[in-house]
Amino acid sequence: MSFRHSIALHLLAVIFGFYFLVAVIVTVVQLYKEYENTKESFYQEIQLLPTTFGQGISDSVWTYNQELLLSILRGVYNSPIVVGIEVKSLDHKMDYKIGSILDEHNQPVYFDTQGNPGKSIETGLGADALFGYTFPITYRGPAFKTPQPLGEVTIYSNERLVFERVKYGFFLILINSVIKTLALWFIIFYFIKRYLGKPLNEFTSKIKQQDINQPHPITLDIPWSDSNEILLLKDSYNQMIDSVNEYQAALKNLNKQLDDKVKERTHELFAAKEAAEMLAYTDMLTGVKTRRAFFELAELQLKNGIRQQTVTSIIMIDIDHFKSINDIFGHATGDLVLQTFAKILKNSCRANDVIGRLGGEEFAILLPQTGLEGALHLAEKIRQSVAGEKITQNQQTIHFTASFGVTETNPGQYTLEEILGQADQALYTAKDQGRNRVTHYNAQAQADKPGSSNS
Ligand code: GH3
Ligand code: MG
Ligand code: MG
Repeated sequence: MSFRHSIALHLLAVIFGFYFLVAVIVTVVQLYKEYENTKESFYQEIQLLPTTFGQGISDSVWTYNQELLLSILRGVYNSPIVVGIEVKSLDHKMDYKIGSILDEHNQPVYFDTQGNPGKSIETGLGADALFGYTFPITYRGPAFKTPQPLGEVTIYSNERLVFERVKYGFFLILINSVIKTLALWFIIFYFIKRYLGKPLNEFTSKIKQQDINQPHPITLDIPWSDSNEILLLKDSYNQMIDSVNEYQAALKNLNKQLDDKVKERTHELFAAKEAAEMLAYTDMLTGVKTRRAFFELAELQLKNGIRQQTVTSIIMIDIDHFKSINDIFGHATGDLVLQTFAKILKNSCRANDVIGRLGGEEFAILLPQTGLEGALHLAEKIRQSVAGEKITQNQQTIHFTASFGVTETNPGQYTLEEILGQADQALYTAKDQGRNRVTHYNAQAQADKPGSSNS
């Protein structure tokens, strides 16, 4: 923690500011009182002077002894608290002025020790602020019953002398104030820092070290164990941390529950998607590919054929007189025939051959990497299997046959639509020639047919 940011220093600045203000006011009042007292004691000292010099002044005025009067006045003037003295006699014959005095207009004027006007030797603050004490002079002789008034004497002092005397006292007061202030400053600074700054610093650094994910309650090394603001703050903080931890644990738990739920739902969704795909791609009755799936997979295999530069064949199959089977034995038996037929197809084909049910009793097989010869061979094998199959239903035996149209394509030669069309034409020829046979597509024969575009 930088010194500038210390709470102790801030408090100190405030406290010290106020304390300084109070100290200045108190010192000023003290000084003023000191000054008043000193001035008062000056007055008292000046008032004592007549008891020493009064009689001598009276006698010398009465006897017109100028020499004596001047020497007495010089003696008074030499007193450290006197800056001037003036004698006013009733007949003005013995008027004398020495040092700084006030004239009739209350203006300071100066006279030397001979009583002649001159330039003031008094300088400094308060040198011209004169104040005086006036007392009458009288003559008491054996010839008079009552004292005879001779005039008056005024003894002057000035504020500079008062200042001089107060100066030392002022210095003491100032030193006293400075020492007291500094001591207070240091004591306050030390204790605030020790009892407030240090624990707060410790508190702050411990909070900073907390692991946000797992904060734990903290302890503070504080000199008091009774409840105080910092300990209360720490306790509140710890309570908050406990709540945060509880809340986080609940949140984690909730998160886990949600996570599990999401996993479960995802799993369900995935299963549903697979089932839907199954429905869309697999024919429910026969277990072979649907028309849509057949077209997608056949396109894929054709592209593979182009990439691998291999020949592909298609066999198009239609069960013969299927309508009659339905009509004679019923729709359910018709379904059984379809299933039996599909089973023969599956048993006769390789894994990567694509078998699809394109409609009612119409099927197609795509044979990758297989030429016309291989396809014809497979079609013939299937035809014989179908013809040799018998289904027994309600003590009746059912035989059925199918017709086959076969064609092949070299890589990139025909589109799927085109070769399916060719296979379909071959199938049509097989039906035409009496059914239960395999026919292959013959481009020339098609071209020669009446009505064909080539004829
Ligand atoms: P052809 O030898 O010329 O092919 O004669 P066919 O009777 O087989 O020809 P057609 O296309 O006229 O008959 C197909 C019949 O297949 C008509 C329809 O009722 C029947 N069918 C279509 N789908 C199903 C099915 O899923 N189950 C059953 N049992 N019969 C179906
Ligand atoms: Mg048919
Ligand atoms: Mg048909």
